[in-house]
Parts: sequence; structure tokens; C-alpha cells
Amino acid sequence: MKAHSFTYERPSNVLEASRLLAEASGEGRVLAGGQTLGPMLNMRLAMPKLIVDIGGIHELKTVEHFVDRIVVGACVNHAVFEDWIDPTPLGQLLSRAGGSIAYRAIRNRGTIGGSLCHADPNADWVTTMSLLEATLLTASTKARRQLPMSEFMLGTYSTALNPDELLVAIDIPKISSEARWGYYRICRKVGEFPEALGAVIFDQPRKVGRVIAGGMNGRPLSLPTVAEFVAATGKTPELPEVEKAIQESEPGFDSVDLRHHAVAVRRAILMALA
Ligand SMILES: Cc1cc2nc3c(=O)[nH]c(=O)nc-3n(C[C@H](O)[C@H](O)[C@H](O)COP(=O)(O)OP(=O)(O)OC[C@H]3O[C@@H](n4cnc5c(N)ncnc54)[C@H](O)[C@@H]3O)c2cc1C
Repeated sequence: MKAHSFTYERPSNVLEASRLLAEASGEGRVLAGGQTLGPMLNMRLAMPKLIVDIGGIHELKTVEHFVDRIVVGACVNHAVFEDWIDPTPLGQLLSRAGGSIAYRAIRNRGTIGGSLCHADPNADWVTTMSLLEATLLTASTKARRQLPMSEFMLGTYSTALNPDELLVAIDIPKISSEARWGYYRICRKVGEFPEALGAVIFDQPRKVGRVIAGGMNGRPLSLPTVAEFVAATGKTPELPEVEKAIQESEPGFDSVDLRHHAVAVRRAILMALA
């Protein structure tokens, strides 16, 4: 099958891109790396009248380092993170997450912003940015907004973005050099989305302890009781304890899926404590 016909625009700045989207009155669609939208167009799961290709906007491809945070443009490719030579815990975590996605050809084109805007619950950046409590910076012709990750992703394939709004950048708080993290994905076949994801961070100097289960039925699930147990004891909880915590927050998984999620979380904790 081939894509339905559409008008193609390649603006050179964010203002022009948001103006084009506003003029399309909900019939426009942003194209970033095209790794998800391309197949959707070909299968006619998406039939926009206008495609706004943001791949030529320089502002969206920058990475800015500040004392307490990194601001990453929405069009930074997964491969940029994979190749990142940054020995800090944050640099290593971002490199692990970016390098875990699909395979190199997809990582060369797919973008962090495209992944977050598509809001697939099994996406690596969705789990990682939830773990890091990133803030998403957006722009439309009317306003610029800052949305915490928890407010940006509303559910499966659903975000708080308006039809004329672009994701511009992701503001990621830095973690301390003593922080310990773990990232574990259960994936049957190399190059595919993971079925379950565990992501944890324990950053004592900043008093941060977070345990996240990804690949759920919607937004990533935070497991504060598990995080508190690890922070207080320095031990990894047993599998039934993790299963119980997941089930209490998000009931309805069958025993196999529940086990997958609990194993991913537990192995991420083991990795952080190793
Ligand atoms: C075979 C295969 C395996 C994959 N495996 C994994 C995996 O293991 N883990 C994983 O996380 N991902 C995986 N992916 C997805 C991949 O990471 C994509 O790159 C990503 O989901 C979309 O990024 P993109 O830049 O290609 O976005 P696009 O396909 O261009 O766009 C995706 C959606 O986001 C919207 N959009 C894009 N950018 C913006 C923006 N700045 N503002 C507003 N809206 C925007 C588009 O309109 C579209 O709706 C896989 C994809 C494939 C094809």
C-alpha cells in the first residue's frame, strides 16, 4: 500500500513549523525521523493533508549542558545518545537507553522527540524520561509550554500536545556522580520493542530513589514502596514483593506478564546495587 497524497513542507524554524500546523487546522502531522510515521503513512493508518518535516530545523538538533540539567532538542537521534562519550551516570544511562532502541539503522534516524510524541508505552525514552522526571518544552503559535513527563504522556499513543503544537526540547535534570542506576529490558528478539522494562535510580546526595516499570498498559508505573525498601535496606526485594507492588498499582496483568514486569524491575535494581 502507498501513502495517501499530502502536501509536504520543510520549514527552517520552529515558528514557521507551528504556523504551518496551525493553518492545517488539525490536518497536519509532524515528521521527525519518520521511523514510525513512515510506516503509518504507507499503511494509511495516518492520512494527514500536510506533512511538516522538522528535520531541517537546527534548533531542534542541539544539546545544551547546564550546571544542573541537559536540554536536548527534540530531533536528536537515538544514535547520538548511543555514541555519547560521557562517563557520568547520566551520560551512561542515556547512552544505554538510546543504544537499546531497535537497531542502528533506526537509531540513526529515529529521534527522542518522535519517540516521546508517539507515546508507545514500550518505548525506551518514555520509561527513561519518566525515571529522570524530565520536563518537555513545547511551542505553538500561541504559547510555549513546559510539561512534566507525567503530564505530557496521557496514555497509550496519547499526549497533551495540541494539533498545532510541537515538542521542541527535553529538559533533563542532572544526577550526581554518585548516583546508581539500573536499566533492564525484556525483549524476545533483538531490534524489537521490549515487552517489559525496569528502570531505577538511587541518587543519595540528591535524595532521589525511583523505581519505574515500563511497557505497561499506558504510562510507566512508579513503584515508590519498592524504591523506599531499597533505599532503606540496600537490598533487592524478592520477586513476589515486586509483583505485589505492581499488582496493587496496576491490576489486571496475567501471571506471565506480571512476572515479566517484576523480573525486569528486579534485575534493574540488582544492576543498580551491584
Ligand atoms: C522495527 C522497529 C523497531 C523499533 N524498536 C524500538 C525499541 O526497541 N524501542 C523504542 O523506544 N522504539 C523503537 N522503535 C521506534 C523508534 O524509536 C522511532 O524512532 C520512534 O518511535 C519515532 O521517532 P521518529 O523520530 O522516527 O518519529 P516519527 O516517525 O517522525 O514521528 C512519530 C510521531 O511523533 C510525531 N512527532 C515527531 N516529532 C514530533 C515533534 N517534535 N513534535 C510533535 N510531534 C512530533 C509525529 O507526528 C508522529 O505522530 C522501533 C521502530 C521500528 C520501526
